[in-house]
Amino acid sequence: MPELKNDPTLKDFQNYVKELEIERGFTEEDVIHKCLMLGEEVGELFKSIRKSHDKLKIDSNSKLGEIGDEITDVFIFLCSIANRCNVDIEDSFRFKEEINKKRKWS
Ligand SMILES: [Mg+2]
Repeated sequence: MPELKNDPTLKDFQNYVKELEIERGFTEEDVIHKCLMLGEEVGELFKSIRKSHDKLKIDSNSKLGEIGDEITDVFIFLCSIANRCNVDIEDSFRFKEEINKKRKWS
């Protein structure tokens, strides 16, 4: 069973997801499959947020994780997709934020 280091970097999270996919037998699932799974998990996250708001109606029997659980599921699939596309999330984050800093936000 993979172990996540204390104070993990984004690379540590990506490596952890790579290892858990080997252990759980998910390595043959392609990036399209992972994108669809990410979409499902985003839906679960939005539904858990909707459930946390009193003004929004939702079936009280609907089974959902807590918001943090669903954010974790989304993050796992993001790592999985990044791994399949050889994207280092930290490097990519830093690069894209440099572009964003120069952008005019209106
Ligand atoms: Mg979920």
